[in-house]
Amino acid sequence: MSIHAPSAADTAAIRQALASGQLAVADPATGYHRSIWADCPGDGHSAGTWRIVRGAGHAITELTMRCPACGQEFVAATESLYLR
Ligand SMILES: [Zn+2]
Repeated sequence: MSIHAPSAADTAAIRQALASGQLAVADPATGYHRSIWADCPGDGHSAGTWRIVRGAGHAITELTMRCPACGQEFVAATESLYLR
């Protein structure tokens, strides 16, 4: 079981990316794009984005993640998201 605690910088970058309708964040140091993940509430596996809800101006307002280990779908709170 893996527990990921997002850093404040990651959370801020994720909020900014979602507000502009993006699901990846470019690392300012390397230029490498990192994707948004959340841990499955059932088993702690890293779950990728499965569905999104868009609001005004294409902003992403809700992320549904799907766990590759158990198949559970769950809505992830922004604070629980992290980059990998
Ligand atoms: Zn799971």
